[in-house]
Amino acid sequence: MPEATAPSVIPKEKEWADGVRLPIKDPGRSWLEIAFIVLFVPAVVAFYSIYKWPTVFGSHEGSFYLFGKSPGFFYGSVYSGLVCGIALWALIRNENLYKRGKKPAPMGRYQRAKFTSIFLVQLIVFWILPFIVGPLIAGQSLLEDAIKPPKRDYHVYVSGAFMSLGTGIYIFGVIPIAVYFFGKRYCAWFCACGNLAETIGITSWGKKWVYHGTPRGPVARRLEVIQTVCLVFALAFGVLFFLDGLKLFNATSVVGALQSTQDLVIDFIFGSVIGVAAYPFLGSRVWCRYGCPLAKGMQLLGGLTRSRFQVEANEACKGLNLCTQACPMGIDVAAFAHKDRRPTNDSFGLAETPCIGCGGCIEICPTEALSFAPVGKKSPAPPATPAPAEEVKA
Ligand code: SF4
Ligand code: SF4
Ligand code: SF4
Repeated sequence: MPEATAPSVIPKEKEWADGVRLPIKDPGRSWLEIAFIVLFVPAVVAFYSIYKWPTVFGSHEGSFYLFGKSPGFFYGSVYSGLVCGIALWALIRNENLYKRGKKPAPMGRYQRAKFTSIFLVQLIVFWILPFIVGPLIAGQSLLEDAIKPPKRDYHVYVSGAFMSLGTGIYIFGVIPIAVYFFGKRYCAWFCACGNLAETIGITSWGKKWVYHGTPRGPVARRLEVIQTVCLVFALAFGVLFFLDGLKLFNATSVVGALQSTQDLVIDFIFGSVIGVAAYPFLGSRVWCRYGCPLAKGMQLLGGLTRSRFQVEANEACKGLNLCTQACPMGIDVAAFAHKDRRPTNDSFGLAETPCIGCGGCIEICPTEALSFAPVGKKSPAPPATPAPAEEVKA
């Protein structure tokens, strides 16, 4: 029996799609999904509020520490458990989870490597190292966490590069090299925020949220200016923080005001609450496309250095537009693959788009018309005759 659906609260596709043709129809939300969302949104707000401000009175008493463990421990454990659990489920299932249609296809090598990386990175780098190895090295008890101020130099805010040498080397050394060779695959293979987006994005609800909620088209491109503002803010704040530390700029109050703005507006409201609570409404990569300063930096670097990363379309394209609908970043992939359903054999990289190299568009394409291309290779000219068009059933 088909699942009963409630009226859709997702914005009409054409409002977001902005003229981009999306072939998969919105099936609406089930009552179960609506009930989940009603609980999910306030839960995310409460969760991040406690995580961000764990101590009300600055001691274990009257704080949100439970059994001696910090909110950060519980947050990290739930988050990593979710990401690792879904990644492991995908690996064991071994299916192409982007493919449409009833006939299952095996998971490709790229996706297998990606989900293996997500699983290991999330488990080791974002859970075992901070919650087990770190405290052991520091000689701390694993049973009780010391009260600590909230962490403020997450690498995605870029400003952290001005606060510690290690983060500086990471942001201005390791990341640019990785971008040159691998594009923004860091966002789909490594980053903790991206790990959640990638794993939620292959669940049945997550796919629906990506397909029908992700903003696309010219409006989405215009909104990217917000991300540029975030990057400029992060760099300005980082430089002022650095100069203040060197006593070359003596305005601690300015630095403090910028720090508070970043903490509240960028980290809490945008990165944490909107970035996660908006999954059911705007897809899984709102923060990644419109907020994350590191992503904007990577995109600029990749475009300027003509990085070796690109997605290429071939003459097998039949103009189905599934690739556009599958893209969690809201990139109109099909616009590079065909014009009026005639293959264009075009390609795109970081100079043209904020692509994170997740491979979703490649996996969903039923005609194998897309692939990650080798270094700076340009496609041959498009064929003279148009390929026949095919309709896609919802
Ligand atoms: S865009 Fe930023 S937050 Fe998102 S995955 Fe990339 S680095 Fe992480
Ligand atoms: S690349 Fe594949 S999914 Fe995209 S428009 Fe062409 S045939 Fe459709
Ligand atoms: S264009 Fe393709 S590979 Fe790039 S982010 Fe979109 S779906 Fe992923």
